[in-house]
Amino acid sequence: MKQQKLLQSGKVKSVYRTDTPGQLIIEFRDDITAFDGGKKDVLADKGRFNAEVSAFFFEYLEKYGVKTHFVKMLDEKRMVVRDLQMIPLEVIVRNFAAGSLVRNYPFKEGTKLNPPIVVIDYKDDSRHDPMLNDEIIGALGLATPAELKKIKKIALEVNSHLVRFLAELDITLVDFKLEFGRGGKTIYVGDEISMDSMRLWDKTTGESLDKDVYRFDKGDVIATYNRVSRRICT
Ligand code: 5GP
Repeated sequence: MKQQKLLQSGKVKSVYRTDTPGQLIIEFRDDITAFDGGKKDVLADKGRFNAEVSAFFFEYLEKYGVKTHFVKMLDEKRMVVRDLQMIPLEVIVRNFAAGSLVRNYPFKEGTKLNPPIVVIDYKDDSRHDPMLNDEIIGALGLATPAELKKIKKIALEVNSHLVRFLAELDITLVDFKLEFGRGGKTIYVGDEISMDSMRLWDKTTGESLDKDVYRFDKGDVIATYNRVSRRICT
């Protein structure tokens, strides 16, 4: 497979056309950002840890019948994916109150949310990813009611699989964000599932094992990403 023209360069990943119809290459770069790009750095090896964990979870979920864009890894940082028509939604599943939920609503951090809460944000950094509701999604024509129902169902299924898997590693899945795309009439999980898009707490120590280490200067980001990727992938 040959990597061709750069199609899109996001904050931490680049997307390339390939010589295979219907397939793209996503490169996980070493950039790391937080607060809508307000904090940025380049941390060696960060890209490969996120690529490895994303590939691991995509393959894991496929085993349970969840459709994802993952095709294969080309090398440590480059993933071949199905070309999707991406839907500009950030679909967040929350098992425990943390992050923006605690900042914006009177939840106490760490409160268990039973059943889990699905929150959908509009993917638009210039507007700071505002929270949507079903009516706004419909009025903006972002997804049909049937697509939205399917997206929420898949998000909760992914949550059950990831909660169970991570619990066995003594890791609490606090929350995570998914993005979806259309391939024909099928909805696929796209983007990434990594330490950048999940909030993970060590069950024993309570320590953060994700991008909160970077956001809030809690310690050595790369050492954390390295340790958690070893825990997940081996
Ligand atoms: P919060 O709304 O608390 O900031 O984020 C909830 C969860 O979704 C966290 O695990 C966070 O990492 C993820 N998330 C929310 N927005 C984004 C985003 O724009 N990019 C990425 N990579 N993850 C996000």
